[in-house]
Amino acid sequence: MNTIKPSILDFTQEELKEQIKPAFRAKQIFGWTYHNYVESFDEMANIPKSLKSELNEKYILNPLKIVRKEESSDGTIKYLFELQDGKTVESVWLKMKDEEIDCNGNLIHEAKYTVCVSTQVGCKVGCAFCLTAKGGFTRDLTSGEIVAQVLSLKKDNNHKHNRKINIVYMGMGEPLDNLENLSKAIKIFKEEEGLAISSKRQTVSTSGLSNKIDKLGEMDLGVHIAISLHAVDDKLRSELIPMNKAHNIASIIDAVKRFPIDTRKRVMFEYLVIKNKNDDLASAKKLVKLLNGIKAKVNLIYFNPYPETPYDRPDKEDMINFQEYLINHGLLCTIRDSKGIDISAACGQLKEKDKNSLK
Ligand code: SF4
Repeated sequence: MNTIKPSILDFTQEELKEQIKPAFRAKQIFGWTYHNYVESFDEMANIPKSLKSELNEKYILNPLKIVRKEESSDGTIKYLFELQDGKTVESVWLKMKDEEIDCNGNLIHEAKYTVCVSTQVGCKVGCAFCLTAKGGFTRDLTSGEIVAQVLSLKKDNNHKHNRKINIVYMGMGEPLDNLENLSKAIKIFKEEEGLAISSKRQTVSTSGLSNKIDKLGEMDLGVHIAISLHAVDDKLRSELIPMNKAHNIASIIDAVKRFPIDTRKRVMFEYLVIKNKNDDLASAKKLVKLLNGIKAKVNLIYFNPYPETPYDRPDKEDMINFQEYLINHGLLCTIRDSKGIDISAACGQLKEKDKNSLK
């Protein structure tokens, strides 16, 4: 078995300066890594040979290897990565908006992308509708493994380092259950001489660990939060998300009310709509009441069925009625396109498909 080494991506530039002497070399290494997307220390042209061999001995550059890639007809690309210890995680590259060109052929704006990244191998939360949950929990990702997902996807899609991108921590795992490494990754992404992705472009999506929502708020990182609510009463929510017994709906709503939110922004509430479970107008009515007083936006998501799930996809008409009810009662509400539906882009699905071929 190969020795597992720390990755250069685990460190902020300040931390690298403490480890690599002279300190200005850290800045050069940062540039080669985040601006030039090099794949090995040997490609770093202005780094002396002796330092290259020291780097090769102590560190690995990118701890991820792409082992599978699936592209959907809507431009969504799902990646399966292998980590240094042979475990696998997924990330998704989502095209949110096409580029726009005027009648003279001038570019009005470039295409907009979001990267959905994983924070753990497996997950402890155990949501009933989730394939990742079926595999249980293996381990937290390091901050470098979180950073590497975005770096690898940008490189693979020829997306220059200075082009803007949004990150949503919503892949495999519960981000707030790996808060230390998550917060470090957020800081590394923000590094001006790295990818310079502002915290306003980073959204932490949580299944609702209310105490950790408070902790994230206290860190004052400036990130947005999205809450996977999915139900309006604790009975159904505990069926869908067993961890709800310890962090019930009221505790989550209270934590959200305490969270420092940019005044121009809204808290996103994700609501996975499941046929005959939570798609009726009585649920919509309760949702309006629950979110009263919060600057909220609700994102309705079609449940994406996978083999052996007991749940069904809701009817389009019910989705629209639900959305209209929320809008008519003062809430912002969108219905999420089922991006990547033909490649099963819900978390854990690519890994599940590939399990046998990887072992
Ligand atoms: S949906 Fe997210 S939080 Fe729930 S089990 Fe799956 S990965 Fe974990």
